[in-house]
Amino acid sequence: MSFTFERIASVGAARAGIFTTPHGPVHTPAFMAVGTLATVKALDPLELRAIGCEMILANTYHLHLRPGDDLIKSLGGVHRFMAWDGPMLTDSGGFQVFSLESLRTVSEDGVEFRSHIDGSKHQFTPESVMRIERNLGADVIMQFDHVIPGQSDDAVARDASERSVRWLVRCKAEFDRLAADESVASQALFPIVQGGIHSALRQEASRAIQLAGDWKGYAIGGLSVGESKPDMYAMLEVVNEELPVARPRYLMGVGFPEDLLEGVRRGVDLFDCVAPTRMGRNGTAFTTDGRLNVRRAELRADPRPLDESCDCSTCMRFSRAYIRHLFVAEEILGLRLVSLHNVHFLVALMRRARAAIADGSFDGWSRDWLARYHSRPTPVP
Ligand SMILES: [Zn+2]
Repeated sequence: MSFTFERIASVGAARAGIFTTPHGPVHTPAFMAVGTLATVKALDPLELRAIGCEMILANTYHLHLRPGDDLIKSLGGVHRFMAWDGPMLTDSGGFQVFSLESLRTVSEDGVEFRSHIDGSKHQFTPESVMRIERNLGADVIMQFDHVIPGQSDDAVARDASERSVRWLVRCKAEFDRLAADESVASQALFPIVQGGIHSALRQEASRAIQLAGDWKGYAIGGLSVGESKPDMYAMLEVVNEELPVARPRYLMGVGFPEDLLEGVRRGVDLFDCVAPTRMGRNGTAFTTDGRLNVRRAELRADPRPLDESCDCSTCMRFSRAYIRHLFVAEEILGLRLVSLHNVHFLVALMRRARAAIADGSFDGWSRDWLARYHSRPTPVP
C-alpha cells in the first residue's frame, strides 16, 4: 500500500491535510504521542485511540537495546508487540546516540557507542539502522542522521548536515535493498533536514535531500535543542520555502502548545514531543490559561477540572482537588490522569487548528489562543 498526502485547505503556509499510511489515515496538522520504549508512558493504546490520537512514535535506539528488534520482529513487529494498529513512526536513534557524549565515537562510517543500560558496545551505521527499523516495522522510518547541539557554529553544523545527506544516500540504498528482498508491509523513509540555525545550510540541505530521492515526506531535525524560539521559527520559514508543498513535513521533538501553533503557521504538519507525558508524570498540566502545577496548595479544595474547556475523560470526571490529592499521596492514578489530559490537550489543539485552517480563521484564532495561553503564566516547578 502506498503513502499519500492530500491537502484539503490552507491559510498562508498553514495546511490541513490527510496523510495516508498502510495503517490508516492521519488528519493533519497532528500531534503524535511518543512511545519511546513501545509504550506511551502510563497510557493504554485504547486510551490513545479514544482521545483521537492517530499516530504514535517508538524509538530505534531504545528498542534495539531492549528488548531487541529481532525479538520484536519475531513477535510480529512493533504494531502487534504493543497492540497499536494505527500509523506509527520510528525515530532512527541518531538523537539518542549523539546525546551519549562520553559514550560514543563518530566516524564517517557511523557511530560506536556504549549502551546506557549495561555498557555493552554497539555500532549504528546508516545500513544497520535501516535493518533495525525494518525489523521494528513502523510505517514511517527516519534516516540515521548526525545530530548536533542547537548553538553549534557554522563549521560544525555544515559538517553534520553534509554527513547527514551522505548518510541519507546510504540509508536509501539499504532501504531499497531490504524492500526488494522482503515481502513485508511497506514503509516510507523520511529524510531529515539538518543545518542548525544557519539559513544557508538549511537551504542547501533541503535541496540536496530532494536531489537524493523522491520522498513521501520530510522531517525537520535539530530544532528545539537549545536555540532561541525566533531562531527556530526563522529556520522553519526557510525550510517551508524549500520543501515541496505536496509532501507532509514533520518537525521532530517539538511539542509545546505555542510551538505547535507557530509550526503550523510555518507549514508543519506533524509534531511529536515527550513533554505531555513527562510533564504529566511530574504533575504539570497544560491548560488554555497556561501551565498548571497540580501540587499547588491552593488547589486543595478546588472543585474545577484541570481545564474547564477540556472534554477529556480526566476533566469530565475529576477535580483539581482530587488530582492534587493523588499526587500528594503518590498514587499512580494521578500521573496517568494528567498524562492523558496533556496528550489529549495537544491532540485536540491540532484538531482545532485543522478546523480553523479549513474555515479560513486560523490566523485570528491562533493569535487569540496564544494571547490567552500566555496571559496568565502559572509558575512551573
Ligand atoms: Zn482534560
